[in-house]
Amino acid sequence: MTAPPPNAGPPNAGSWNVDVVVVGAGFAGLVAARELTRLGHDVVVFEGRDRVGGRSFTGSVAGLPADMGGTFVGPTQDAVLALAAELQIPTTQTHHDGRSIIQWRGWARPYRGTIPKLSLAGLIDIGRLRWQFERIARRIPLAAPWDARRARELDAQSLGDWLRSVRASDSSRDLLAIMARVTWGCEPDDVSMLHAARYLRAAGGLDRLLDVENGAQQDRFPGGTQQIAEAVAAELGARVVLGAPVRRIERHGAGVTVTSDRVRAEAGFVVVAVPPAHRAAIEFTPPLPKEYHDLARHWPQGRLSKAYAAYSTPFWRADGYSGQALSDEGPVFITFDLSPHADGPGILMGFVDARAFDSLPAEQRRRDALRCFASLFGNDALKPLDYVDYCWGTEQFAPGGPTAAVPPKSWTRFGRYLRRPVGPIHWAGTETADEWTGFLDGAVRSGRRAAAEVAALL
Ligand SMILES: Cc1cc2nc3c(=O)[nH]c(=O)nc-3n(C[C@H](O)[C@H](O)[C@H](O)COP(=O)(O)OP(=O)(O)OC[C@H]3O[C@@H](n4cnc5c(N)ncnc54)[C@H](O)[C@@H]3O)c2cc1C
Repeated sequence: MTAPPPNAGPPNAGSWNVDVVVVGAGFAGLVAARELTRLGHDVVVFEGRDRVGGRSFTGSVAGLPADMGGTFVGPTQDAVLALAAELQIPTTQTHHDGRSIIQWRGWARPYRGTIPKLSLAGLIDIGRLRWQFERIARRIPLAAPWDARRARELDAQSLGDWLRSVRASDSSRDLLAIMARVTWGCEPDDVSMLHAARYLRAAGGLDRLLDVENGAQQDRFPGGTQQIAEAVAAELGARVVLGAPVRRIERHGAGVTVTSDRVRAEAGFVVVAVPPAHRAAIEFTPPLPKEYHDLARHWPQGRLSKAYAAYSTPFWRADGYSGQALSDEGPVFITFDLSPHADGPGILMGFVDARAFDSLPAEQRRRDALRCFASLFGNDALKPLDYVDYCWGTEQFAPGGPTAAVPPKSWTRFGRYLRRPVGPIHWAGTETADEWTGFLDGAVRSGRRAAAEVAALL
């Protein structure tokens, strides 16, 4: 039997009576709903946007799918890979052959591997920092980072403070700033050292986090990541209600009443699968305990956007370049070659610093991004067949990305409330995951965990 498409409209659109309401149709919410539905429970998903996928959104450039949010997957991301395999959605390897480019303080130089060799002294310094950072990360208990030895000390400082305290060289600090921008969408001074170390451990170490080969950027879905969300939503059919931002969740003796702009539901339980910062936009009645209220205000989303340019061929490959680059010039600061084939079209994707980019007029964003591509790969980059960008910071609903940039003193004060249920209210979302938190994989894992919690109570 073919499931009706999402948003086809429930039998009684005004009010539902179900076992569980899920708030948010990102990977976490959809997976929670799918698991509960498979166990025979009656579930409805309320999504504020007019689409599913959340931070996974596949647009197009030159008629080809282009992921504007979550893109890459890699080894040990078993939850999202298993889900995609079950839905028969194939992956392809990220193009990685050739030399990468580092553009640094006015000069550009090719390099191979993950970390560019700026100088012998720079290499020694980055090696030392990496060893110290990983040693701290290995000691963080993922499920209870506030219990780590020196948790308070680590959480009282930012990654930037830590780098200064261990006398990191200027070039090491600049390299780690690029890592912070692409990982959390913030500067090293904005993110807690405890959070940074836990995040590193949750990803399985620095190589796993940053590498293409054997790392988090190894593979991607040629048809885009959003098709995974769409396939799960198609299974759930009319149980996914789009354009339904949840405004209020009331707890009462029988469970919860969840009120969105479009529909309302009475349910035994609710799974709130939105980023912690966006919990603050929902009115909870009676109010959540103060720690939960404060948590939502101390778990801000970082900011990161993307620019794509399409060319008739991946012309940089002919010159021996991989299409990967790091730059300190901006607004584009990391690039990847996401071309479907060697014979063209050629697709360059650049991560851009949303803070300087999102508020610019469209024409200027295009000019600035193409100028960056050209300074890395030559003037052929100035004349694309197509150009598209996506500004997560200026999204009307649930803005921000890629994940939370958790500032100092948040984990030790509020971390234990991140996913602890409040009566019938349960929490999901990649930020609540212990493994691959911040990634699509963490979102899938969190959806499964929340579904199991609720199923055990139903
Ligand atoms: C630019 C960028 C690049 C990224 N790159 C990668 C990558 O390469 N690999 C990777 O694994 N991950 C990547 N990520 C991160 C990845 O996309 C996220 O970790 C993942 O999509 C989070 O899923 P989620 O379900 O936890 O949250 P979300 O996807 O944010 O889903 C939450 C949903 O809740 C909805 N919502 C919010 N408030 C309400 C409300 N009040 N009522 C109803 N609905 C509501 C939102 O609209 C959204 O659909 C990237 C993200 C961005 C932005």
